[in-house]
Amino acid sequence: MRQIAIYGKGGIGKSTTTQNLAAALAEQGKQLMIVGCDPKADSTRLVLGGLSGRTVLDTMRMYDEDEIELEQFLFEGFGGIKAVESGGPEPGVGCAGRGIVTAINLLEELGAYHSGLDYVLYDVLGDVVCGGFAMPIREGKAEEIYIVCSGEMMSLYAANNICKGIQRYAAAGKTRLGGLICNSRMVDQERELVEEFAHQLNTQMIYFVPRDNLVQRAECHRQTVIQYAPESHQAEEYRALARCIDGNRSFSVPTPLSNDALEELMMKYTQEEAD
Ligand code: ADP
Ligand code: MG
Repeated sequence: MRQIAIYGKGGIGKSTTTQNLAAALAEQGKQLMIVGCDPKADSTRLVLGGLSGRTVLDTMRMYDEDEIELEQFLFEGFGGIKAVESGGPEPGVGCAGRGIVTAINLLEELGAYHSGLDYVLYDVLGDVVCGGFAMPIREGKAEEIYIVCSGEMMSLYAANNICKGIQRYAAAGKTRLGGLICNSRMVDQERELVEEFAHQLNTQMIYFVPRDNLVQRAECHRQTVIQYAPESHQAEEYRALARCIDGNRSFSVPTPLSNDALEELMMKYTQEEAD
């Protein structure tokens, strides 16, 4: 079983990419579980055909401990993909990261990580690098990480910060970075910029996912592109991403950049308008 954590700045496309990746792997006959580790609890909407409706933390608030069963919050969606949302505390109360710790522990206790699974994908909010959000990569859970980013400054900045966290946990365990997934925002020379950024981080850009409005159209129908438009060019892109990740054998401990080096890199690839 490969356990993969997908990190990245909020709004960068983690949930969309994770679910399309999962759908493409499911098409190839893989058994998967997605664990949403974002208090927004919208990590599994496209594979489930709608919001999950019940998170792990909701369930724990509703039932006594000895009444809790996996079926109360673990649902099956497209291609047999199992989907769980960890959920979050009531707004304004408590730490969101704690919820992830509790959720993963409960999944383990209830036997969700059975031997038939080929992949567990954790979709993790990456703006906050606090203990809870690092849970999937602590204690030897997900040993493999991908960061979704684009050529935009703030997403590279977040990716660099996430690498600082990974570097810390890699020192204590087997956690390794498998690469950056560039989810294009149509920035100038985006592919070259992200490739060089990856190189400086001692990793690779494992795939460049083009921007396509079909993604939004599929999202309106509560579906992945793989399900909504299986013959489309974008569906092929996600299948190619899935093949790259399935075949990836290149893992490293990242070497985060200094803020100055990061800004210099941005500068190099940002064309000034000639006047
Ligand atoms: P995150 O989970 O990182 O917060 P989402 O996956 O929810 O981000 O994506 C944010 C928005 O970006 C969504 O509305 C989604 O449809 C859109 N999006 C993501 N990837 C693409 C893409 N490759 N092309 C077009 N739109 C995309
Ligand atoms: Mg998300």
